[in-house]
Amino acid sequence: MTNSAAKQLSIVCFIDALGWEVLRGRQFLEDRLPHRRKLRSTFGFSSACVPSILSGLTPREHGHWSFFYYDPEHSPFKALKPLGVLPRSLVDRGRVRNQLSKLVKRAYGFTGYFQLYSVPFSQIGLFDYCEKKDLFKPGGLNRGENIFDRLEREGVPYHVSNWRQPEDANLAAVKADIEQGEIRFAFLYMASMDALLHQVGKASPEVDKKMAWYERELTDLLAVAERHYDSVRLFVCSDHGMATVHTHIDLMARIEALGLEFDKDYVATYDSTMGRFWLKTDEARRRIVAALEQEPHGRILSEDELRELGCDFDGHQYGELIFLTNPGVIIVPCHMGLKPITGMHGYHPDDPDSDACLLSNVPPPGDPQAITDIFHVMTAEAGVSA
Ligand SMILES: [Zn+2]
Repeated sequence: MTNSAAKQLSIVCFIDALGWEVLRGRQFLEDRLPHRRKLRSTFGFSSACVPSILSGLTPREHGHWSFFYYDPEHSPFKALKPLGVLPRSLVDRGRVRNQLSKLVKRAYGFTGYFQLYSVPFSQIGLFDYCEKKDLFKPGGLNRGENIFDRLEREGVPYHVSNWRQPEDANLAAVKADIEQGEIRFAFLYMASMDALLHQVGKASPEVDKKMAWYERELTDLLAVAERHYDSVRLFVCSDHGMATVHTHIDLMARIEALGLEFDKDYVATYDSTMGRFWLKTDEARRRIVAALEQEPHGRILSEDELRELGCDFDGHQYGELIFLTNPGVIIVPCHMGLKPITGMHGYHPDDPDSDACLLSNVPPPGDPQAITDIFHVMTAEAGVSA
């Protein structure tokens, strides 16, 4: 009943942070997925990499990079400023931040992933947020089209996970659709590897356990799909890997010691691996550049380098000066999190720990070299125009 002649299904399973170097030295689906290649990542966090995978575009082209960017005129967060007078010990509790994030998300109708993280409330009214929409829906990108725009326009029956759901629910949902036998393309989203790697680091036996779980689940998924389709093409891909953290630097203290006034002389935001600065005076520029050059565990990225990385933005939207830490170095404290961690990503794509992967049971279409090429694999598999 569910079977008609020569049915083909392509499944793309995205596993966040399943890096090439995380796979190294481990057994993972070698028999089922013998075609294996390393992919160069996109510079930035998942908020930059996932849009690149879904669209084949660079951050400059799709307009997604780090979550927060300086835009006091359009900041939706001005109403939160009064919370800046509350003691940080209260408002920085994870649970309080999470509840507030939910309230803000609902109040503004954001459908994307939203977290206030630990951006100080006294400063948050200066920033806007780049992922207000659901990336996994048609129209989800700030600029350009994603794979779901193409699938819908060309009427391809497909399945996509709800990224808000846990992995077992996403597996059950894709299997249910496969059993109906009507879809031709599926995008399965698996996010918990990233959280685990941040917490325990890539060398931990916990990671082996988690990979064994993925291996079992994907083998089972293939078996289910093969019962309902004549041909099943499975691709496992990732967005980046995970470096092991060995050094903390207090970049915020180094900048605050300059005696410049926040908002009047400069604006800064500190992601885990990046300090991003907007400079309002020549004096502030001179002093901040000098201070960053004193920091031995990272460097300022040149305009040329940012252009090569596809991270040169119109009007320096995401920062006029980008300081990047060396692999394994994180900025503590920063505005992205308050918990101590073992693993981090968001380093230069040249670092081997940044490399992502593409594993498949058939040779991948084209010659994918970078995570942006996953988009072209998907358009080829779904038979939609690239
Ligand atoms: Zn992560």
